[in-house]
Amino acid sequence: MRYLSANDYYRKKFGKKMYRVAVSIDVTCPNRDGSKGSGGCIFCSAGGSGEFASDVSLSVSDQIDAAISKVRRKAGADAGYIAYLQSFTNTYCSVEYLDGVLDSISSHPAAEAVIIGTRPDCLPDEMVSMISDYNRRFPVYVELGLQTSNDDTARLINRCCDTYVFGDAVKRLRSEGINVTGHVIFGLPGESFSDMMDSVRYIVDSGFDGIKFTCLYVLKGTKLYDMFLNKEFEVLGMEEYFDIVDKALDIIPEGMVVYRLTGDGPKSILAAPMWTANKRAVINYINRRFG
Ligand code: SF4
Repeated sequence: MRYLSANDYYRKKFGKKMYRVAVSIDVTCPNRDGSKGSGGCIFCSAGGSGEFASDVSLSVSDQIDAAISKVRRKAGADAGYIAYLQSFTNTYCSVEYLDGVLDSISSHPAAEAVIIGTRPDCLPDEMVSMISDYNRRFPVYVELGLQTSNDDTARLINRCCDTYVFGDAVKRLRSEGINVTGHVIFGLPGESFSDMMDSVRYIVDSGFDGIKFTCLYVLKGTKLYDMFLNKEFEVLGMEEYFDIVDKALDIIPEGMVVYRLTGDGPKSILAAPMWTANKRAVINYINRRFG
């Protein structure tokens, strides 16, 4: 394989296949509640970029149990599980609150690590230091949604956070030994091929440990959907998208984990591109081209 996949990385680190199980906690996002911005990033749906997340009214432990019961048969007895705090901004809360959440996760008998999805402007030093304490006894991964390193595009998508803040957060997290992954979206309105490659280079040069690629998909009910209906941009075709991924992989250094070559939105509200909904065809294509 041309790159270090999540599967290979997890097998090396945990000695087995690992499954992510979504956990939702009581947080929102500063880009939605008015403190940084309102309305959120233009592609983000009401679910806060975590459409497959579980029921926040359940306890953390019950959410993990429920998520595991859904995949246990496929996963088999030898698999391991990583709790995934994906929806919204999971450090947009008090240090004590997240501390309690991490405590519940790390004491769950089946959870072997945790991924915290967040924004770089929601990582004050006290939060980083608490996360670092956990990380010494229980693996913690932090994911940051860069999406693009182009600040003009960042303004267009209403990210409400300058690019340099990402680089700064990575430095602070990594100096505490915390593993950091960055997300990049290909196909954002107005972006050229070289903008997309610049975003990948930014991730590499900033010292992120891992990267996730996603094709921009349009969800109904978002600002992006209105722009799509107004024909303000076009979505990428499957070949076109994977041609970009192919070039991006050339930039990724050995040892950097490529967690995902593309993502898929919830079919119920997906407007375009529809090829992203055909998971089986996409996986077959990926295996043929990059496997
Ligand atoms: S920062 Fe994340 S949760 Fe907040 S609006 Fe943007 S994509 Fe959605």
